[in-house]
Parts: sequence; structure tokens; C-alpha cells
Amino acid sequence: MAESSVCTVNAQLTSQELNIPYWRIDSGVPGPTLLIMASQHGNEVQGAEVIRRLLPVFERELKAGCVLMVPFANLLALQNRRPHANSGPETPYGDPSVENINRTWPGSADGTDGERITYALSQNVLAEATHVIDLHCWPRTRGTTVLVHEGHEEAMEMARCTAVRFVQPGALRPLSDKSPQGTSLRNWSIHTGRPAICIELSGQYMVVPKEVRRTVRAVSNCAKLLGLMVGEPEGLDEPQLWINEREQTNIVAPESGLFAVLDFEPSDRVEEGELLGHLISDKTLKITEVKAPVSGYLWRYGCFRQHCDVSLAAQHPYADEGNSLAVIVH
Ligand SMILES: [Zn+2]
Repeated sequence: MAESSVCTVNAQLTSQELNIPYWRIDSGVPGPTLLIMASQHGNEVQGAEVIRRLLPVFERELKAGCVLMVPFANLLALQNRRPHANSGPETPYGDPSVENINRTWPGSADGTDGERITYALSQNVLAEATHVIDLHCWPRTRGTTVLVHEGHEEAMEMARCTAVRFVQPGALRPLSDKSPQGTSLRNWSIHTGRPAICIELSGQYMVVPKEVRRTVRAVSNCAKLLGLMVGEPEGLDEPQLWINEREQTNIVAPESGLFAVLDFEPSDRVEEGELLGHLISDKTLKITEVKAPVSGYLWRYGCFRQHCDVSLAAQHPYADEGNSLAVIVH
């Protein structure tokens, strides 16, 4: 049994002191330190449940090194029930009026509240970490996906080892020369020599048990890869699709109407010709069967538009002609 304890990061904000709790699980044996961060965005809550499920696993099976797990990195945004601490109703995610703490790493001791939060987390938990997994959530219509910096071999090995269906590689962003630098946790981690990946779970403002289980396995697999736990990673025989190496077929609405989905979920396999749902025309009530034109895996399933992460109206399944109804990767 590894020793676990609840510790606290103390952030001195402009008008209050914020205590951010986290779990530390220490094997007592030298090894890597894995930092698992969740809820940098307050509407992206599934990572906290992933962490809750991982706690007994690490208590039981951690053989070397140390794991630090922060379920509520941005406590103020969580309490605001929205992406950022100062997001109002339907405020766009990237609105200039809001502060996205995942653009402020490594933060600043005397900056804005967001910069002070990331500064406190940088100085305490991140400073100790050798590897980083940052848990985020995107809309339920998108399949759970690992984001990784292309060409960073150790991070790409972690991504492969997650056995998550989709991996989306992207370029490492240069650091700004402004002070403080202000970048994402994953970008800052790579720049400071820590292999890091981000997992975007499917579904915001909610916990989807299937996606949580997928991600618990993904993180456990990485812990095995890094030698923190014994055992072989699971699910490596399942198909994993690297988005940059695959073709995508975007299925769009042939006319306007309501797109009613069927029993599929994002990440599911679909076969060519399979019925994905029905489009009910709002002009003629004509019903159009929407079928998969190719076999592959649903990366996106369902009609939604920009700002659906902050606006219920943007999640509405009414499609304008040409709106995307599904994306199959194959
Ligand atoms: Zn996020």
C-alpha cells in the first residue's frame, strides 16, 4: 500500500487566500513524479471523477515514484459552474473579458488572480513533477481525444500508451517573450522538460461514466509505461487513430431541419451504410435518413455549433443546411 494524503496549495489572490487541495500518493521508492491536473476549466468536471477513481488504484498498486492529483485546479471557475472564474451566462470561452488560466502558465506571484493560481500550482505541484497529464473536456458530440505535441517522442509514447481511440498531434507553441510567458500547462511542461499530454474527455458540465473509465485506463496505462505501477497497459490492441494520418469524412445536413441521433456515441465504430440518425425538414417535414458514407470511427456525432461549451442554444440539434452532423475518421 502506498501512502496517500490530502495536501494544499495556497494561492495568495488579490483579495483572498485560496486553498487548492490535492492528493499525494507516495510509494516511498525513488521514481518519476506524475502530475494529474483536472478542472482548469470549471465546466470540465470529468477529470475530477477520473482522479477519484484513480486514488484507490494508486494506493494499492503504486510501486515506485509519486503521483500528485489536483481534481479542482481552478476552484473559482468550478464554483462559478462555468469555464472561467469570471465567465457570465453564455460568455464565449475565448471572450477577452474572461481569464483562461490555461493561458497563464507558469503564472506570476503578483499578477491577476488566474496568474496567481497557476503560479502557486507551478511552484508547488508542477515543480516536483517529471511528467504531466492534463485532463480537460470538450463537448459531448466529440470523441475523447489525446492532444500531444508532434515530434516530442516521450509524450507521443504516452499518447500511444493511453489506448484512447483518437490522438490529435499539434505543434509546440513558442513561448511569448512577454513576462509572464503565459501559455498552457501542457506547452509549459514540454518547454521545461516534462513529457506532457492532454486528454479531452467527451462531455462538459457532466460526468459520463464510460468516458471516465476510458480515461482511468489511459492514465493507468501511462503509469505502467513510466514504471510507477507494475503490469502491462491494457487495450493496446484496440485501433487508435492519429487524426493527422487519417482521412476524415464530414457528413453535413442536406437541408435545414432537426437532426435526431440514434444509439451511437462518439468514438463508436460505424460501418458504411449504417443509419446514423434522421433529419426532419422544418420546411416540408421530409425525413432524410443520414447514413455513414464510409466505415470508421465517430470523432464527432450530432449537430452543434460554436460556443456550445457556454451556450445551451448552441447545443441545439437544429441544423442549417450544410451544418456538420457527424465526422467519421477512417
Ligand atoms: Zn479545458
